Amino acid sequence: MIPYGRQSISQNDIDAVVDVLMSDFITQGPRVPKFEQKMSEYSGALYSVAVNSATSALHLACLALNLGKGDSLWTSPNTFVASANCALYCGAQVDFVDIDPDTYNMSLFNLEEKLKHARKINQLPKILVAVHFAGQSCDVEAIYKLSKEYGFKIIEDASHALGANYKDTRVGCCKYSDITIFSFHPVKIITTGEGGMALTNDKKIAIKIAQLRSHGITFDSDEMQTKPISEIWNYQQIDLGFNYRMTEIQAALGISQMDKLNSFIKKRKLISNTYDKELKSTPLLLPLQACQSQSSWHLYVVRVKKKDSYLTQRYLYTELRKLNIGVNIHYIPVYLHPYYKKLGFPEGYCPKAENFFQEALSIPIFPDLTSIQQEFVITAIKNLFKS
Ligand SMILES: *Cc1c(COP(=O)(O)O)cnc(C)c1O
Repeated sequence: MIPYGRQSISQNDIDAVVDVLMSDFITQGPRVPKFEQKMSEYSGALYSVAVNSATSALHLACLALNLGKGDSLWTSPNTFVASANCALYCGAQVDFVDIDPDTYNMSLFNLEEKLKHARKINQLPKILVAVHFAGQSCDVEAIYKLSKEYGFKIIEDASHALGANYKDTRVGCCKYSDITIFSFHPVKIITTGEGGMALTNDKKIAIKIAQLRSHGITFDSDEMQTKPISEIWNYQQIDLGFNYRMTEIQAALGISQMDKLNSFIKKRKLISNTYDKELKSTPLLLPLQACQSQSSWHLYVVRVKKKDSYLTQRYLYTELRKLNIGVNIHYIPVYLHPYYKKLGFPEGYCPKAENFFQEALSIPIFPDLTSIQQEFVITAIKNLFKS
């Protein structure tokens, strides 16, 4: 099976991991801070805090922004469930803003309309999670302006978008947001097996996230709430945290993967350019790039427009799968999952996201996809439209 995405692991990754295993620390050693420093240098954000998944990063980001009972968080329905679940972990409400039909990111028009209405009924969100779908950044400057007008915080869910650019900034720099999170799951841009990172320019937020990832414990006497409990065991739990730490094994892999990030992105761009060129002649709707954004091409999503094509998404999905081409669908609108339906979200809540869900198909894109494999995918798709 040619999957829609997969990790790219080379000998230096393997060597880096073996090195850790033979070293003194397999957790809580020097590699996690080194990985964090590398990420800050790359992205331009002052602080980076590594955790064991992007899901954990989202949870801690919400806690650091004081999300709690009675608050609400808004996000896009066209995302992985984690972007919304983080609100529920904190006892807050979640709500969804429909997508833009061109970029498949949250629609700015719908966002502004929803904000106007929410202000009238006094139910403005505390946090907006902006998801950079497929690796293409949202128009974060515009969202930032709205955040100043309506008073909400911004978390960028950049799980897809490590290595992407927005205007003259790198995704992750947090110029237009409070916190940005990345995922290092194997299908994402770089991998640590499981892993995630929260980036911010706010020192207080960084300290809070770092404490919460390790039980809410501090070793800093300035942070302690009473005199040190003991001269020797000089730490205090000052908050209710978790064990969301990243291991040294993961960090070593992350550091080694960061060295290849630029070449990974280059390869993804090359693959997407070839799809653009070769699939132009089919009735498929190809991904559109907004001019201010340069995608990291986590996903290449084609759309089988119901009205323009005699073939359906389901037919393409089934036929390509028969050929061992691991096409996939991103995403089931979050609120259509049974757990969310029980919270009261009706079908038709975000019609554009639902329509997209019925037409979208993610075709293989990852750095190790060979040109022979890509040709096979392209020919298979073209043949389906011929027959
Ligand atoms: C993968 C992903 C996550 C969760 O990442 P994990 O590291 O697996 O927890 C969150 N949001 C989006 C948009 C994702 O694609």
